[in-house]
Amino acid sequence: MRYISTRGQAPVLSFEEAMLTGLARDGGLYLPETIPTLTAAEIAAMAGQSYEEVAFRVMWPFIGDTFTEAEFRGIIARAYQGFGHAARAPLVQLDQGHFLLELFHGPTLAFKDFAMQLIGQLFQAALARSGKRVTIVGATSGDTGSAAIEAFRGLDAVDVFILYPHGRVSDVQRRQMTTPSEANVHALAIDGHFDDAQARVKDMFNDFAFRDGVRLAGVNSINWARVLAQVVYYFTSAVALGAPHRKVSFTVPTGNFGDVFAGFIAKKMGLPIDRLVVATNQNDILHRCLQSAQYVPDGVIPSISPSMDIQVSSNFERALYYAYDCDGGAVAQLMDDLKGGGFSVSQGALQALRESFDSGRCDEADTQATITRLRASTGEVLCPHTAVGVKVAEEHLQPGVPMITLATAHPAKFPQAVEAATGLHPALPPRMADLFDRPERVTPVANDLAAIETLISGRITA
Ligand SMILES: *Cc1c(COP(=O)(O)O)cnc(C)c1O
Repeated sequence: MRYISTRGQAPVLSFEEAMLTGLARDGGLYLPETIPTLTAAEIAAMAGQSYEEVAFRVMWPFIGDTFTEAEFRGIIARAYQGFGHAARAPLVQLDQGHFLLELFHGPTLAFKDFAMQLIGQLFQAALARSGKRVTIVGATSGDTGSAAIEAFRGLDAVDVFILYPHGRVSDVQRRQMTTPSEANVHALAIDGHFDDAQARVKDMFNDFAFRDGVRLAGVNSINWARVLAQVVYYFTSAVALGAPHRKVSFTVPTGNFGDVFAGFIAKKMGLPIDRLVVATNQNDILHRCLQSAQYVPDGVIPSISPSMDIQVSSNFERALYYAYDCDGGAVAQLMDDLKGGGFSVSQGALQALRESFDSGRCDEADTQATITRLRASTGEVLCPHTAVGVKVAEEHLQPGVPMITLATAHPAKFPQAVEAATGLHPALPPRMADLFDRPERVTPVANDLAAIETLISGRITA
């Protein structure tokens, strides 16, 4: 399997190279040259199999010769062994024809663990073989950083440095980053905003001497291996509800479009998905684009579902690539126009997008009201991101087609919003109950590139 860039101008890579590279050199995102398909019989045969077995069958065709079958099975087993639920991604029923896919049983209580845990094991296996080390550097507003630290803690081929804005992440998120005691984990509290943290990480990737010197690697949401890991639970949940013998639809709380794009890949692989509903909060650039063809960023308004507070949705570029019939030149042009303030999707491409995607928006008041209402009608306590999904899903239910809404985080990760809506303080799962008793370890850093680079160079294992 070979990987190509959405902008058509970067070298073609293997799975291993695409995974370790992240962003393509032409600024584009990597995609498999062709999407492998599974037959209805192969999908039907997934019924009753473990999450890990389905994960193997879904992802194996994308791996090429990077790993042997046995190696890849071992990677999957290690990735998901730390989850707090035997089913990994269990389904619960909310209402007639409406189901919730709980993706928050991983070590940091958000769906990002599904991808990040796998990436940690993939990196470790690939690096152990080559004897090389890498330095992972990332910026986070909360969820991604904690998931990355959990995934890489204790792995001996990797050092992981996460920059988070000092005083601007939740207590749970901060403690998930500062309490791991392994020597290869480095939580850096930057004196600035999330945008500053992200800008310094970009600067490090653009400082080629530093980048090569410490062998910098990125694991942000555009990494293809992260998207691939997320394709799996579309299969396990759809099959549990009767696929391939009947169609299902999904509603996905969306920010950077990685999760819902994984659903699109599942559909292209042959899973009978009727609709993929993109659910946004008040930062609704994707909903506006699918309605009007206009993709024009207009600033972020902070919400109670912060992991969906985006200005530009990075993985949307991958959907545009298919909507424009795999025309890398057309995608490159759109991304150029975006630098100038925005772009307009062509009529043909908009029609192509609408063949798979619907969309909806849920404002702050509706998000809170949905948490309150679902608590009363089902006993289920939703995190605010999931509530956005549930509300939008309710507006897209169709008779005879089960709707699966992705529950992207555990309510205890966002206790203030949940308490405001229900009067209830959501408890952390027992395996994490001592999070507030563990000692914290964090290094404060100035918002200064040279100082941060010096610190990282001094800390890494040569
Ligand atoms: C990251 C995140 C999202 C958005 O997912 P994308 O793949 O960026 O669209 C939604 N909910 C939660 C809790 C998240 O952490």
